[in-house]
Amino acid sequence: MTGQIYDENNIFAKILKGEIPAHKVYEDDDTLAFMDVMPQAPGHLLVIPKRGSRNLLDADPAVLSTLLPVVQKLAVAAKEAFEADGVFIAQFNEAAAGQTVFHLHFHVIPRHEGQALKPHTGKMEDGAVLAENARKIREAL
Ligand code: 5GP
Repeated sequence: MTGQIYDENNIFAKILKGEIPAHKVYEDDDTLAFMDVMPQAPGHLLVIPKRGSRNLLDADPAVLSTLLPVVQKLAVAAKEAFEADGVFIAQFNEAAAGQTVFHLHFHVIPRHEGQALKPHTGKMEDGAVLAENARKIREAL
């Protein structure tokens, strides 16, 4: 088993501290949502709690109870913004399960019938495309 310590300097903690930029779609006292830089489909966004935990396994249940309604709200908005047929929600715990950033996050990915997902952590999307996709989701909120 790898180290189970929460690293305060992980990339999402840096986004929360404003040290690196992100295309934000939603923010409240407890939660932030922003576009994934390597989207598996147009509109792929991430929802994270402001309070740090590595993933679901070490998260405070109180954090989860405020986080999931936001995941729902953003799933509905992303479905509408991209006229999607469905929405895929994904959440990985530890490297063996595919986790690459160790701050709890839920992936929200609009899906269209017959369109395959791009690979997980594949290609970086153009900043202008991410900005426009973030705008569409904010508008649908
Ligand atoms: P995980 O594999 O941990 O479930 O997912 C981490 C996600 O974060 C990946 O989908 C990856 O594309 C995304 N990601 C990695 N680095 C950054 C970054 O600096 N900014 C943003 N917005 N997304 C990132």
